[in-house]
Amino acid sequence: MASQEIEALSGALARLPGLGPRSARRAVLWLIKRRETALEQLLNALMQVQELLVECDTCGNVDTTNPCGICADPRRDVRSICVVEEVADLWALDRARLFTGKYHVLGGRLSALEGVRPEDLTIGKLLDRVAQGGVDEVVLAMNATLEGQTTAHYIAERLEGMTVRVTQLAHGLPVGGELDYLDEGTLAQALRARRPVG
Ligand SMILES: [Zn+2]
Repeated sequence: MASQEIEALSGALARLPGLGPRSARRAVLWLIKRRETALEQLLNALMQVQELLVECDTCGNVDTTNPCGICADPRRDVRSICVVEEVADLWALDRARLFTGKYHVLGGRLSALEGVRPEDLTIGKLLDRVAQGGVDEVVLAMNATLEGQTTAHYIAERLEGMTVRVTQLAHGLPVGGELDYLDEGTLAQALRARRPVG
């Protein structure tokens, strides 16, 4: 029997995605054996992130700086904005390293069922960014779910009349596919073959 504290640590780790109780216990044992090295490193890394974590005012990405590393990067093309549902989607796309522009995180998707309305997402902020000028293309990279596509359609409508090209990811995406779970090759393909909306 482990102490209450060790059980608490196991329990916390077991809630992480991809870990279950068994893997969590193994991780805890592994860390206990490496108290001076790995445990301390993990502790420091967690505290640093906890302390510095901030949401980017411009794009909604989560980073340790505001504006985030992507928004602050002068090598990135400000004329192109890729719109995603969640931070996880941004990270997935950015891992594929094919999109060199900036991003915009909506913070979810429109959903009648869950009562998510346009004003619950950062759509207004996106329109402001485009209205400020200097943006040539908005890439709608919503998930290939019904709600994702409804969201993309809604945003495309709101962007109508603004002098910006609106494209969306090619439907090489599996139906119901969540960006975060796609391999980088599939994502890259969908991005390369993006097409105008409408
Ligand atoms: Zn940002």
